[in-house]
Amino acid sequence: MNFELTKEQEMTRKMVRDFAENVIQPRAIDIDINSKFPEDIFKEIGKLGLLGIPFPEEYGGAGGDTITYALAVEEIGRVCGSTGLSYAAAVSLGASPIYYFGTEEQKQEFLVPLAKGEGLASFGLTEPNAGSDAGGTQTRAELIGDEYIINGEKCWITNAEYARSITVTAVSGKREDGKNIISAFIVPRDTPGLKINSNYDKMGVRGSNTSEIILEDVKVPKENILGDPKKGFGQFLYTLDGGRISIAALGVGIAQASLDRALAYAKERKQFGQPISNFQAIQFKLADMAMEVELARNMVFKAAWLKDQGKPFTKESAYAKLFASETAFRSANQAIQIHGGYGYMREYEVERYLRDAKLLEIGEGTSEIQRLVIARKLGC
Ligand SMILES: Cc1cc2nc3c(=O)[nH]c(=O)nc-3n(C[C@H](O)[C@H](O)[C@H](O)COP(=O)(O)OP(=O)(O)OC[C@H]3O[C@@H](n4cnc5c(N)ncnc54)[C@H](O)[C@@H]3O)c2cc1C
Repeated sequence: MNFELTKEQEMTRKMVRDFAENVIQPRAIDIDINSKFPEDIFKEIGKLGLLGIPFPEEYGGAGGDTITYALAVEEIGRVCGSTGLSYAAAVSLGASPIYYFGTEEQKQEFLVPLAKGEGLASFGLTEPNAGSDAGGTQTRAELIGDEYIINGEKCWITNAEYARSITVTAVSGKREDGKNIISAFIVPRDTPGLKINSNYDKMGVRGSNTSEIILEDVKVPKENILGDPKKGFGQFLYTLDGGRISIAALGVGIAQASLDRALAYAKERKQFGQPISNFQAIQFKLADMAMEVELARNMVFKAAWLKDQGKPFTKESAYAKLFASETAFRSANQAIQIHGGYGYMREYEVERYLRDAKLLEIGEGTSEIQRLVIARKLGC
């Protein structure tokens, strides 16, 4: 077993780390306080080729693997959870389903510009009455002539306001057993009838765009249905499995940042005539944080490696997502504790880590849903 990264993986990590530290880090507090989606930073991310890491060169991508992509998410997430979330959602939820399931024409029209970094995309699954139970989708798509007409509502969709295209799920018919058939449709952002509002006031990841989408008689050509019309449900489960690796990588980034900040502060802060890092109570917290970061990162690598090998990875991506998101939350909480009162102040940033980390226990399947996925794989 070889735990070493390849030269390409190391190079990408270094390049993204430099970019993250020099360009994103100085803006992170402002992005959070002012809930400002960093559009210009995403243009740079696109130019660097990061939006195309896991897609083949023939579709405008970099031909990298999932491990390389996870490293990029971790490095961006380490400096800014908002930018990290929007980056992960653009690649894993926006572009990836088109790559996995799209026809050649759909890939040329919709994936190539995304992989080349010329735009972002979104994935609209969640609805006001269908969250964890995504099978309860109420949005409907009706085939009339050569067009699907879509009506419904989606909520909390990442990047929608800035997206070039949005893949939405909708009920398109009934199976013989009476259950709904759910399909996915690629909807260009400028399609008439598509309304996007971004008025949510969020606890964390405040600079990541989160939008409500209203679809009123939205017409798309019948060619815009994604892949096999009857397999939309399975498609989004596979998409979420992949997305969970990136949410886990984001958790590792936030947990690593929490550890870095807490360690540096503990060595600097003196109480009772000595650095607080001399106290065993503080050392034990740091030791636990370091161990959990290492473990979470290894879980991300393993799930990513399985995906790259074409092996089943549903259980491992749920393990990684569950453990890394809870590690991020615990580490951020301990980082605040180690900073004492200063940790409660915005300028020390660790309180932001906690607010950002909380989202990771909710989005792309809550922690409870990850436990359900794992239990099912155990045969329960
Ligand atoms: C900032 C943000 C960005 C998001 N981005 C996107 C996006 O880009 N695209 C998208 O489609 N969605 C997105 N979401 C939605 C997200 O995926 C959902 O919030 C999530 O899946 C949970 O659904 P819910 O909020 O409706 O919670 P609910 O499903 O109502 O769950 C409420 C509680 O009940 C628990 N629960 C539910 N069912 C079970 C069960 N069977 N067993 C045990 N416990 C259960 C849950 O774990 C949770 O604790 C985003 C959400 C946020 C907050």
